[in-house]
Amino acid sequence: PQRRVAALDELIRETVEMLQADPLRRGVHLSLELRPVMASVDPDQLRQVLLNLLRNAFEAVGPEGRTRVSLSVSAEQKVLLAVWDSAGAIPEAHLVRIFEPFFTTRSGGTGLGLATAYSIVRAHEGRLQVTSSPGSGTEFTVELPLAVAEE
Ligand code: ADP
Ligand code: MG
Repeated sequence: PQRRVAALDELIRETVEMLQADPLRRGVHLSLELRPVMASVDPDQLRQVLLNLLRNAFEAVGPEGRTRVSLSVSAEQKVLLAVWDSAGAIPEAHLVRIFEPFFTTRSGGTGLGLATAYSIVRAHEGRLQVTSSPGSGTEFTVELPLAVAEE
């Protein structure tokens, strides 16, 4: 894995750009709430995490649905990258299994998107978590160590 200190806000913008032509993206509202944040990451791998989370969000909401990517730093000095969608809640029985490889509820789904994202995030000493409830949609949060400023 090739890590370097990267501007995650830039990486997110590039990734969103890559999805412009994705049929899943069509008609979906996407808002970005990005702070300038640096972290030590493998850019290709982190882009893969974002693509997987965003494609899932687009699929979950469908045309006219709302999605959001936010990037900030928590009070505990962790990088917080969140992908939110406005779709209905994921049932509890699914929620406990979605990070398992090959778990899918989609026809033609591979069930590998979240499992892959999970291992990439873990390899970055980070955490990937989900919260989902009726009325407030679904949010996947990637927590990563903040890059330490150089002397
Ligand atoms: P796939 O997309 O191929 O099904 P994933 O690993 O990306 O595989 O996702 C696994 C399952 O988790 C999906 O089939 C779906 O049931 C659920 N899931 C993932 N993301 C979302 C989301 N944003 N909203 C609702 N369900 C989701
Ligand atoms: Mg997927």
